[in-house]
Amino acid sequence: MRVILVGPPGSGKGTQAKQVSDRFAIPHISTGDILREAVRNKTALGLQAEPIMAAGGLVPDDLMIGIIRERLNQEDATAGFLLDGFPRTVVQAEKLDAILEGNEGSDLSVVVLLVPDALIVNRITLRRSCGACGSVYHLENLPPSMEGVCDKCGAPLVARPDDNEEAVVKRLGAYHAQTAPVVEYYRAKGKLKEVDGNAAVDVVFERVMRSLGV
Ligand code: AMP
Repeated sequence: MRVILVGPPGSGKGTQAKQVSDRFAIPHISTGDILREAVRNKTALGLQAEPIMAAGGLVPDDLMIGIIRERLNQEDATAGFLLDGFPRTVVQAEKLDAILEGNEGSDLSVVVLLVPDALIVNRITLRRSCGACGSVYHLENLPPSMEGVCDKCGAPLVARPDDNEEAVVKRLGAYHAQTAPVVEYYRAKGKLKEVDGNAAVDVVFERVMRSLGV
């Protein structure tokens, strides 16, 4: 099972990705999570990525491709994986094809979550995540049981530094300019499944499952 989940920022991609990876017991590979960890650990990658991410831009393709190549080479990814946040540009999609070539790349499914732009800013500014375990909440749609505290590990919930309105507008712009062509790239290859992401988490999850033929 090889799944790529695509969608604009705030489309519920990360939340769905976690559920799908649990259901199929495949690793959830989020390039955003990998970068945020690098920022927390102040690695060379993190120091380079931090200002780009804070401004809502995209980290250079060559860096991202190196990260994914290394991650997909790890043992747990051999039987399948779910990619969340990669590929975000056509160059990344082409390189991913090359990495997967000769590696049964043809069983790839690409699910795109469709959510209107008008809903994105509300979704993102009400998003909170756990600084310790990365669990994601939404103050209206998916609130934690106790305000400001992660249900899973009890750590404080915080807003992501790139979840301010200015960065969100820039991220949406990057999505339309650079990631929408990735959707067309996979459509042309007959791998695309479109899912309406404008519904409750469980409803969208059922739609994602159905799109994958489950
Ligand atoms: P995400 O958690 O997927 O919303 O990613 C957060 C930020 O990390 C993005 O706004 C980008 O700055 C950066 N990022 C994550 N994945 C990629 C990627 N595949 N290519 C370029 N930048 C990325």
